[in-house]
Amino acid sequence: MFKALLLNQQEKQTIATIEQLDDSQLPQGNVLIDVDYSSLNYKDGLAITGKGKIIRQFPMVPGIDLAGTVVESGDERYQPGDQVVLTGWGVGETHWGGMAERARLNADWLVPLPKHFNGKQAMMIGTAGLTAMLCVQALVDAGITPESGEILVTGASGGVGSVAITLLAQLSYQVAAVTGRAEENSGWLKSLGATRIVERHELEEPARPLEKQLWAGAVDTVGSKVLAKVLAQVDYNGAVAACGLAGGFDLPTTVMPFILRNVRLQGVDSVMCPFEKRQQAWQRLGELLPASYFEQACREVSLDEVAECAEAITKGQITGRVVIKP
Ligand code: NDP
Repeated sequence: MFKALLLNQQEKQTIATIEQLDDSQLPQGNVLIDVDYSSLNYKDGLAITGKGKIIRQFPMVPGIDLAGTVVESGDERYQPGDQVVLTGWGVGETHWGGMAERARLNADWLVPLPKHFNGKQAMMIGTAGLTAMLCVQALVDAGITPESGEILVTGASGGVGSVAITLLAQLSYQVAAVTGRAEENSGWLKSLGATRIVERHELEEPARPLEKQLWAGAVDTVGSKVLAKVLAQVDYNGAVAACGLAGGFDLPTTVMPFILRNVRLQGVDSVMCPFEKRQQAWQRLGELLPASYFEQACREVSLDEVAECAEAITKGQITGRVVIKP
């Protein structure tokens, strides 16, 4: 028997309960895993509270991320005792996820735990950190260098934003951090490596088609009017890596930044990211994240506390990372 957070739906409400299950109830897969840690992402918050249509089949164990130890494997790449990490692939959405003591998964979705990290540290990174790395890599691939100018990071206090700031600072970029919680979080964001704090409301004003050029590049986790403003302010030949919709999924912009300033908008997805790119990103996270990253604010919670944290993350009230010890 093992313990799991189970989501069910009653009268269109999502109900989360903690249940004792056995291995025979786990979904199909060729690797059985003891989960050491999971983590809480914005998407998990939407799934657990039912505020977003993330889950379409119930019952479901949420948790889009997990780090664990292989118990049984029908795939020659993994042996019992191997430590692995999983993010994305629809786990915690269409396949039972990480918020349980056990998971049965497809070997193709796994990445060997990078040697730089233990399971808890990997979950302090999680989908959010992997996505931040993919965004930073997108800017590097677009030819944006530290000499190009300042990089703007939106949703700075969130999981993706805070790792993006850390990685960019480690790569010697000047980073301006956009936050709606400047009073509370400026000190922390600067300790991660932000050189300047920008108040969120400054970016929420309606954007003119083109505005004063301020940023060599940007990592945007917010979307909507904030992304529209960022696009209007990016330098000639700049690039924006867009991965999120914390402020909304619309994009009220014009083609002007693209056709008059050669601005590039690069979408970033971590969920279906192919194995090789994923493994390289984990490797790069291992090389770039300083030890201090793992000493910063991280809340470790049990399955009983997940529902409350899920509510908080959907309200933008969580700072830094929440890891779950099932
Ligand atoms: P978090 O909730 O941890 O962080 C989001 C941050 O955005 C908040 O901390 C807050 O920062 C800011 N924010 C919240 N609400 C608003 C709002 N209404 N308008 C403007 N800013 C807001 O989420 P994550 O960092 O985990 O994820 C960020 C986004 O990226 C989400 O939309 C998520 O779905 C998406 N995502 C996409 C992935 C992909 O593969 N494409 C993978 C992972 C995440 P502050 O208080 O500092 O302003």
